Amino acid sequence: MKYTVITGASSGIGYEAALAFAARGKNLILAARRTEELEKLKSKVADINPELDVVIRTVDLAVNEQVHKFYGSLQEYSIETWINNAGFGNFASVGEQNLTKIENMLHLNIEALTILSSLYVRDYAEVDGTQIINISSGGGYNIVADAVTYCATKFYVSAFTEGLAQELQGKGAPLQAKVLAPAATETEFAKRSFNVDHFEYDGTVPKFHTAAQMAGFLLDLYDSEKVVGIVNGATYDFDLKDPIYPYVKRNRK
Ligand code: NAP
Repeated sequence: MKYTVITGASSGIGYEAALAFAARGKNLILAARRTEELEKLKSKVADINPELDVVIRTVDLAVNEQVHKFYGSLQEYSIETWINNAGFGNFASVGEQNLTKIENMLHLNIEALTILSSLYVRDYAEVDGTQIINISSGGGYNIVADAVTYCATKFYVSAFTEGLAQELQGKGAPLQAKVLAPAATETEFAKRSFNVDHFEYDGTVPKFHTAAQMAGFLLDLYDSEKVVGIVNGATYDFDLKDPIYPYVKRNRK
């Protein structure tokens, strides 16, 4: 049996991605901190397709020790697709940002994603039909005012994943690495970024996608041979592209 791993599946894009992959008949391994939300999602998947196996892992991916344990706990499963989706943002100027929150953001958005990607590549680079998809942001290609640190974490995600894709392609490895770059999407992201209990996208954000639409774009990227799936921040069209950042090959003697 093969599985699709989705981190940050308890809400937003990860939650809808789980439903979208379930609709494709994929067994799931779902990770986040809120076990209850993951259990509810598991029941929903069972309603859609009772044949599917759904494995739940409660983990705080901002703690590196838990990240390693989480990966180690999946050794018995054959993982076809790994989606590093868990992440959060923050809106504040650099001098005013809450460093406890920012340190957690760096642990989650950068460190956990790097550790999990590296371990997955180590184990699956040579396995046919495998994919790793990392969730970046439009902010991983353009710096957004008052979200400088968040954008820098997503520049990292984009550069790391595009570079990984080129590295794997250069080696002729069957594992494909891809990066999804959403623009504004209606999820819990805004609440977490602004530290508020409620956020209404309608009437506040001029343009946005729903999380279900974004999960549809994720499937489009999954189905394509392209490396980058990015929402155009002006038109909100979704485009599939070759790597965007320059990549320099090393000349070895
Ligand atoms: P969301 O609804 O807040 O979902 C974030 C998910 O990450 C939740 O399932 C959350 O679950 C999980 N998570 C957060 N901290 C975690 C931790 N320490 N350990 C484990 N899981 C953790 O937001 P979203 O918009 O769907 O975000 C998904 C991804 O899309 C993120 O990487 C985000 O940066 C990116 N993105 C979002 C937007 C947007 O406008 N929404 C735009 C561009 C990119 P728990 O709280 O249960 O742990």
